[in-house]
Amino acid sequence: MTIQKNPGKLSVGIMGGTFDPIHMAHLVTAEEVRIQFDLDRVVFVPSGNPPHKEARNVSDQEHRYLMTELATISNPYFSVSRVEIDRPDDELTYTIDTIRYFHQHFEGKANIYFITGADAILEILTWKDYRELLSICSFIAVTRPGYCLSKLEETIGEACPEALCNIDILEIPAVAISSTLIRSRVAEGKPIKYLAPEAVTQYIVKHGLYR
Ligand code: ATP
Ligand code: MG
Repeated sequence: MTIQKNPGKLSVGIMGGTFDPIHMAHLVTAEEVRIQFDLDRVVFVPSGNPPHKEARNVSDQEHRYLMTELATISNPYFSVSRVEIDRPDDELTYTIDTIRYFHQHFEGKANIYFITGADAILEILTWKDYRELLSICSFIAVTRPGYCLSKLEETIGEACPEALCNIDILEIPAVAISSTLIRSRVAEGKPIKYLAPEAVTQYIVKHGLYR
């Protein structure tokens, strides 16, 4: 798919994630997608209360939100949204609702591109209302070390062939960093310099996260 820039319409990338913590690969991904797809902005959306409950205890959402702000503050094209973390605590947050929110927020004047890594896009058929989701926004799936996208076309093609033209694969400079890696390095007392932005590292130390 080649993105058709529509005059009068914004091109907005949405980068969802737990961001526990946000790291260099998230930033490389968002910036590479922004440049390659000529997006007007990328909005980072720290997850609220996702249905695919993680076994571990995710850090407090305000910590994740603030680290995402610290990491993105120097990029004029990046911003952070509280839309998911401000939902009521007892409500699950679904990507479909987040995308609907952004369509409303931009009053239908934006083309929305949801950015995911290879691991996340491979799970899309388990997401709530995935058919509708694939029809109301485009997906940009980026390569990620350790995950293979070769089955993606087949998987989606079988379940939802009409969505294939709405998914783009982008090869990005491989960065084998994960939040899991950072959390375990901190827990082991190992340095995380250059894996996350300096301000995020300082925030982690200051608040004693992941010990
Ligand atoms: P965790 O290890 O806790 O799952 P994570 O590093 O996978 O953390 P998430 O917050 O789960 O980070 O991911 C947010 C988004 O960023 C997802 O779409 C994920 O696929 C993507 N992503 C994360 N790390 C990378 C990476 N190294 N390369 C490409 N995409 C990535
Ligand atoms: Mg992950």
